[in-house]
Amino acid sequence: MRLIICFFGLWLACAAAQDTYAIQGTIVASGGVLEKGTMIVSGGKISAVGENMPLPSWMRVIPVEGVVFPGLIDLHNHLTWNVLPRWKLDATVGTRYDWQAMPAYVEKLSGPQGKMMSAGHGCEMERYAEVKALLNGATSVTGTGRLGDCVKGLARNLDAASGLYGEQPEPLRYEVFPMEVGYEQAKVIRDGLEAKTLRAVLFHVGEGRDASAAREFRMFKAQGFLKRGVTVIHGVGLSEPNFVEMAAAGVGLVWSPRSNLELYGKTVDVIAARKAGVTVALAPDWSPTGSAGMLEELVVAAEWNQAHGGVLSEKDLLQMVTVNPANLAGAGDQIGALAPGMRADFIVLPKRGGSALSALIGAKPGSIELVAVGGVFLAGTPKLLPGGEKIAICGQEKSLQVKGDMGGVTWAELTGKLQLALRDVGSELAGLSECGK
Ligand SMILES: [Zn+2]
Repeated sequence: MRLIICFFGLWLACAAAQDTYAIQGTIVASGGVLEKGTMIVSGGKISAVGENMPLPSWMRVIPVEGVVFPGLIDLHNHLTWNVLPRWKLDATVGTRYDWQAMPAYVEKLSGPQGKMMSAGHGCEMERYAEVKALLNGATSVTGTGRLGDCVKGLARNLDAASGLYGEQPEPLRYEVFPMEVGYEQAKVIRDGLEAKTLRAVLFHVGEGRDASAAREFRMFKAQGFLKRGVTVIHGVGLSEPNFVEMAAAGVGLVWSPRSNLELYGKTVDVIAARKAGVTVALAPDWSPTGSAGMLEELVVAAEWNQAHGGVLSEKDLLQMVTVNPANLAGAGDQIGALAPGMRADFIVLPKRGGSALSALIGAKPGSIELVAVGGVFLAGTPKLLPGGEKIAICGQEKSLQVKGDMGGVTWAELTGKLQLALRDVGSELAGLSECGK
């Protein structure tokens, strides 16, 4: 049928048929798990999801053995740093300012990162980090930095080039620290939130276990940032009364347990935050002290949960990496769920454990079977993505289809260039995963 349509020159119909396909398998849809599910993708969006759906004979059908989930949404990262190897402190510290003042931090992280940026490698670092994020299940990321057009493509950069709003300015601002925002810009942010031209602002607040970290909440509040649309990153030093105020104002929280535990020996009381009614998202921070990506951070969150009474269900954890960050980003109408009208951002993970959701919570590093952004397959198994560039991750062969989004550069060329450049600044290229170490 497709051939006939194309032959007769009905080009629009032809193009539509070519980018329309059906995924069949176990699908974690917005309404629940569909064991014999079908999801129809057309023009980069989901046009239908259901069970026992009749399909026209011309439609391309792609059966998958694993479980289909919404693409994960990473609301807390610092992408260009993820080319750098892990950095382990000898002992935990009180706040972010303590480790940032250490000579070892300058030697291992900020020195090499700054030199790489100055030497013009920012776009290459960012592309490496985005592929690392994709292979760890993220289809949307934040913490992009100001790098220009090279960030377009690959994952959605919610703070720079999400592809969700056409040529409009991105309605999400990612700020490292509220007290570093000048008076003028603070007003721009508050006014933008009031006028809803800005849908979301993310701030690092209370990153540490001591009194100064706790005090940051008062400073953040005094700046007038306790507003709907704002999300606090970390919040390690925050306590229950702070969570009550956040919930009342509609302020969210991003939880980054791995990085918190490594740096401070403590993470935010996420159970108290949820109990107070705060919307919580989970994200890895960066790979030098956090996880390599979203799936690996989920493993840390699940372990923390087990050690703290198992209060969070599998569904809670699923929501923390999909619908919650989508809503906190002000993009819950477009990403974070598999439902008609939503962008076709999805991942496929191998089945494991007793439930469909177990495939997500305990996914083995490097086991991801497919990553699609806007319906386009970017990474996956060679079976699902036969034409791509072959790479190995944690001993498993994967296929990447990213050259078009990387200015025509292959993955082998990109990593080769980064390895040489990092060697010149006294560092080395971090892996795509820790492979469960
Ligand atoms: Zn951070």
